[in-house]
Amino acid sequence: MHPIISNILHHLSVVLFPPKCIKCNKIIDSYGNLCSNCWSSIEFITDPMCKICGVPFEFDMDIDLICGQCAGTKQFFDHAISIFKYDENSKNLIYKFKYNDKTYLSKYFAKWIYKNIQTSINDYQYIVPVPLHRKRMRKRFYNQSSLIASYLAKLSKKTFLPNLLIKNRYDVPQTSLTKKQRLKNVKSSFAINPKLQSKIEGTKILLIDDVYTTGSTLNECSKILKKNGCNQITAVTLARVCK
Ligand SMILES: [Zn+2]
Ligand SMILES: [Zn+2]
Repeated sequence: MHPIISNILHHLSVVLFPPKCIKCNKIIDSYGNLCSNCWSSIEFITDPMCKICGVPFEFDMDIDLICGQCAGTKQFFDHAISIFKYDENSKNLIYKFKYNDKTYLSKYFAKWIYKNIQTSINDYQYIVPVPLHRKRMRKRFYNQSSLIASYLAKLSKKTFLPNLLIKNRYDVPQTSLTKKQRLKNVKSSFAINPKLQSKIEGTKILLIDDVYTTGSTLNECSKILKKNGCNQITAVTLARVCK
């Protein structure tokens, strides 16, 4: 296409489909971003944080400190990283993505994650999403964690293994349960795909989910991966419930 025509088409598409804030729909300068208001309302997670689960600490403390939960629970992932806090200001962003079919957001979210872990991503061999059960998959038609993971794999040129973990049971949505019920709910509801089992030995894996709630789902997936010989796991989520 002639560059002048391509330029005209580009401008035309910007006029017809102007970039909008992915949270509030206000018109902004570029696609896949937040307006300045929404940007400042989202709490991005930064240091100081627990060196295992990544929960942010209110005060600047020793960098090697772990939180009370990690001190009392065996975490099978080595680290967990989340991009922003799941709170009143950020939850509609997640809701839109999970339940309103705004699957295009996965591309932008993958970029946010990529920027955050770019310096260490070369240490990992595989990018693995937390699976959804087939029944839930049929209801929703897509696994939001798998979408983010696939874009992240493209950006980082890493191997995407969407079917390494299998969900065994159809359990009730995590959000409708108490913490205790949740822990029970995920117990051994995941398995390793036997066809891919031989790939895990000695590897480093980035495990991707959308929201870190109690960490029990990520911990359960990590436990199974470690049992099958995986060396190191970093659990990466877009948002994190911080209490
Ligand atoms: Zn906005
Ligand atoms: Zn912790």
